[in-house]
Amino acid sequence: MPARTLYLTFDDGPDRLGTPPVLEILKLQQIPATFFVVAQTAARNSDLLARMIDDGHAIGNHSLDHGYGNFFRGKKALKTWVSASETQLRERTGNATIGFRPPAGVRMPELHSALRELKMPLVLWNRRFFDTAFSWTPERALRSLRAATSDAVILLHDRQHPKRLETFLGTLEMYIAAAKDRGFDFKKLEWGMTHDSLRPRGENS
Ligand SMILES: [Zn+2]
Repeated sequence: MPARTLYLTFDDGPDRLGTPPVLEILKLQQIPATFFVVAQTAARNSDLLARMIDDGHAIGNHSLDHGYGNFFRGKKALKTWVSASETQLRERTGNATIGFRPPAGVRMPELHSALRELKMPLVLWNRRFFDTAFSWTPERALRSLRAATSDAVILLHDRQHPKRLETFLGTLEMYIAAAKDRGFDFKKLEWGMTHDSLRPRGENS
């Protein structure tokens, strides 16, 4: 059977509570992932950002502050906002991020245009669980896995509500093991992999 690949992506961190156990699980399972970090949050948690990189994961740009206001202030403000986050993250990591993922996947012509001018790819996802609003349970994860196709980019969040974190971590472990059993392997996203064609859609939520 040809290799089938899944791309795990974790948004909204680095988070003091959720990121360390997620990194631990990825390390135990020996798989790489992609973390879309918020630049201001990364500045406050630079040790966790360093761990992500040391462990071999990819870093994506998930905006300066996860605010939505800049989407409505025109292209110039939008471009300044994206570029400020990218500059901060480059200074901290020594590298360009693999691309920009807007908070909540908000997209508009001004964003496409700003990213083109900044030569940054837009990176979305095609599978998600709304795991910040509802517990990510083994049942939901397995149902999704049965329908998973190769090259699925999966949206998860390492920043979880404390009351949902334990379930999330248990499901993550189970999901990775079950995916491996079904012949999937896991890769991290890389710069230049264009996922502009991916359309966010909710599944099994
Ligand atoms: Zn987010």
